[in-house]
Amino acid sequence: MAGASQHSHAPDSAGEHKSRRLLRDHGLRCTTPRLAVLSVLDGSRDLGHLTVAQIQQRLASAGHGVDLTTVYRTVSTLVDANVLHALVIDERVTSYGLTDIPHHHAVCTRCGAIDEVPAAHLTVALAEARTGSRFALPDTAGLTLHGLCPACQQDSI
Ligand SMILES: [Zn+2]
Ligand SMILES: [Zn+2]
Repeated sequence: MAGASQHSHAPDSAGEHKSRRLLRDHGLRCTTPRLAVLSVLDGSRDLGHLTVAQIQQRLASAGHGVDLTTVYRTVSTLVDANVLHALVIDERVTSYGLTDIPHHHAVCTRCGAIDEVPAAHLTVALAEARTGSRFALPDTAGLTLHGLCPACQQDSI
């Protein structure tokens, strides 16, 4: 809560409980930055995936003074452990998202917004992509689709 600075320990919420279990399942210790990064990503699923800078901004506005270097390090640890995956758009921007729910990505070609597409809708497409490609195509990487997000569809009318 804002103003409760005498307590550095946030109250255990259902989300934090889930994050702790997620970290333990992947053999990671539950450090404060890891829990904070997971809670930010879990709380912004509707916005798709976030860059390190966006994660840091959200942490700051939630009252967590975590510097960019720490966010980078935390995110790389979580990617190495497969808790998060990295999505590179145009070789410029890397966004990160949770891997606990299998999904593909739809990327807006105009503004770069990323949306999650439920994997159940595209498993057949992924299976076909595998047979037609010599690449290793894991479920965790998913497919990346390109199109226009709802906001950009409105603009183009
Ligand atoms: Zn993703
Ligand atoms: Zn867009």
